[in-house]
Amino acid sequence: MVKMIDPNTEVLALIGNPVKHSFSPRIQNYFINKYDKNAVYLAFEFEKKELEEAFKGAKKLKFMGLNVTMPYKEDIFRLVDELERTAAAVRSVNTVKFDKNNSKASGFNTDLEGFLKSLEEKDFSFEDKTCLVIGAGGAAKSCIYGLLKKNLKKIYVFNRTYEKVLLMKESFKDDGSRITAVMELEDLNGLEPEIDLIVNCTPQGMDIDDLKKRMPIPEKWDLGGKYIFEMVYKPVETKLVKKAIREGAVAIHGIDMLVNQAAFSFKLWFDIMPDTEEIKEIISEDIRKKQNSNFKAKK
Ligand code: NAP
Repeated sequence: MVKMIDPNTEVLALIGNPVKHSFSPRIQNYFINKYDKNAVYLAFEFEKKELEEAFKGAKKLKFMGLNVTMPYKEDIFRLVDELERTAAAVRSVNTVKFDKNNSKASGFNTDLEGFLKSLEEKDFSFEDKTCLVIGAGGAAKSCIYGLLKKNLKKIYVFNRTYEKVLLMKESFKDDGSRITAVMELEDLNGLEPEIDLIVNCTPQGMDIDDLKKRMPIPEKWDLGGKYIFEMVYKPVETKLVKKAIREGAVAIHGIDMLVNQAAFSFKLWFDIMPDTEEIKEIISEDIRKKQNSNFKAKK
């Protein structure tokens, strides 16, 4: 995949644990090749106690940058020298850019831009809309931060651990007053026709164990005319996405978000906004093929 390695080849890497199944190396090396950059993107997995040393090593070896995945997004937040506004607000870093001239590490969070771009690509207009976000983890926080920047009417947030929604609401200070914390999803029964956008920021629907069968919203809600944003990307069509398509909603897939946030990282490093259409198709096909072969192997 890498065209050429020489003494000038820039090194980029994903760090996290686990990283073995990550699509980031595939996506970033695709962008690197497409835009003919002399760079390579690798993945490194290590224990938390080694994080600081690994981070300093990458800086010392003059890596160009890093992507950071679970569970280190919040730890890297404390290790970088400067933080861009979004990363500071959500206290989480998924992209690092090293400045080789002054050895400074800058921390960014491209989840929010990836989220907003995925909505804009499907012509979602934010003005006066009502949204429901399900979840209160890192992904939910980035989405909600993005939604709060837009001119929305209302944001409902539901999480199985209610207290986390209250803490998140508090963390957004004055802006948090636009969030309505929902204790039980059933409390929204009858109000759901008013909701324009539903975002699933939990692993419900994911291709593991019992999660695959889970639907993050009540089955009886009619999704016709709504926007449904699914963060889960394995499988490509979760139970929620299938219901959305069946009922005439606009479905935004986890793959859109995955590739779009990666594209914004690439832009930070190379100052090029890469085209994402083809790689979205390639990754979706990859996931479908793996699922089919797993399915056949189980039979
Ligand atoms: P996180 O920080 O660990 O938060 C997980 C959230 O999901 C929490 O709100 C948690 O609730 C909830 N949750 C976990 N298991 C659940 C279950 N069985 N039933 C109901 N709720 C459950 O993770 P995250 O980074 O926010 O990621 C959330 C999901 O989005 C993951 O599936 C991740 O793969 C996906 N994601 C996708 C992209 C993308 O590019 N497509 C980007 C980021 C994340 P509690 O607070 O009660 O534990």
